[in-house]
Amino acid sequence: MSIFVTQSSIASMEEYTEEIRSIFESKRMTNMGPVYKKLQHQLIDYLGVPELSLFVNGHLALEMGLQTFDFPKGSEVITTPYTFVSTTHAIVRQGLVPVFCDINPCDYTIDVSKIEDLITDQTVAIMPVHVYGNICDVEAIQDIADRHGLKAIYDGAHAFGVKYKDVGVGNFGDMCMYSFHATKVFNTIEGGAIAFKNKQYQMRLHELKNFGIHGEDCVMDVGGNAKLDEFRAAMGICNLRYVDENIAKRRIVAGKYDELLSNIPGIKLMNVSDYITQNYAYYPVYIASQEYGESRDDVYNRLAKNDIHARRYFFPATNDLDCYKGKFEIQKTPVAHDVSLNVLCLPMYADLGLDDVEKICKLILKK
Ligand SMILES: *Cc1c(COP(=O)(O)O)cnc(C)c1O
Repeated sequence: MSIFVTQSSIASMEEYTEEIRSIFESKRMTNMGPVYKKLQHQLIDYLGVPELSLFVNGHLALEMGLQTFDFPKGSEVITTPYTFVSTTHAIVRQGLVPVFCDINPCDYTIDVSKIEDLITDQTVAIMPVHVYGNICDVEAIQDIADRHGLKAIYDGAHAFGVKYKDVGVGNFGDMCMYSFHATKVFNTIEGGAIAFKNKQYQMRLHELKNFGIHGEDCVMDVGGNAKLDEFRAAMGICNLRYVDENIAKRRIVAGKYDELLSNIPGIKLMNVSDYITQNYAYYPVYIASQEYGESRDDVYNRLAKNDIHARRYFFPATNDLDCYKGKFEIQKTPVAHDVSLNVLCLPMYADLGLDDVEKICKLILKK
């Protein structure tokens, strides 16, 4: 049977049917109804964040998060190219200019020692990414943001439920985006959220995701439509009941990989700080081809021949994507470029069997 890089977690049909019953009775299917509010409050509790606004997906959450600040068009946002295309697109689609900072070779998050050199009088924000659930150096980033009067807006799409020094990751910076896409640790089919502290953002985000409508006859903003509907919220309520169990299962899978792939010359596992309570969202391995004797793509292809579909994630780096060709210089982010060429994300999901993990590791090690 095929093994893919991920498999969505989904509660039972019976449970979902029970959860959507009230929607059929009220006929209220969207526009921040009671099921939306129930999920919103459950997530505020679960994530340990002060405020949360739910969206139809993480990408639009990121765009509307940026829009909240009314940055002048053409302003610069310091970010990294080692991310999913969404982060860079959100900046560009909001009329802002991404300025790419390189990443750390150990945990693939933004290299904070390189941020300040990139700040100009056009810089308005830093948008770092909690890659694979690794938490950026949030303290150093806050310090830089404070000293230069910049906003810190995190792409926390990978970091659902992750804690740093026992604090929910959504508490850091001005905003933190979560993605609830079907492939993430927690899902609402499609969905996402922005966590924040400043209560004033709640109303603004609410309006931005509802066309900018302020009152019956008053449209204050050029908003869009990014509302999480009641059916997706209901799926979230069901799935949230299992998220701890699923993270515990992922942890066992990760432990098995660690056991089988540690201390192999040329294979570098992710370096996770002791301060982080992980969610085991991904299992990336870095293949140093010189030392290993094979390239990342050799391993990727061998797995694929055996019907095991790992993913070159993230590849290419976003400053090397076709749509941005000629706009950025990838030589300026050499670590991100190198990592994008050498990292492979192995299959990782709650229901992945340990026998499958053994099979995958055997194939990786069979040179
Ligand atoms: C999934 C993801 C997004 C986008 O989230 P959607 O909910 O799919 O719109 C953004 N950034 C990163 C790093 C992601 O992995």
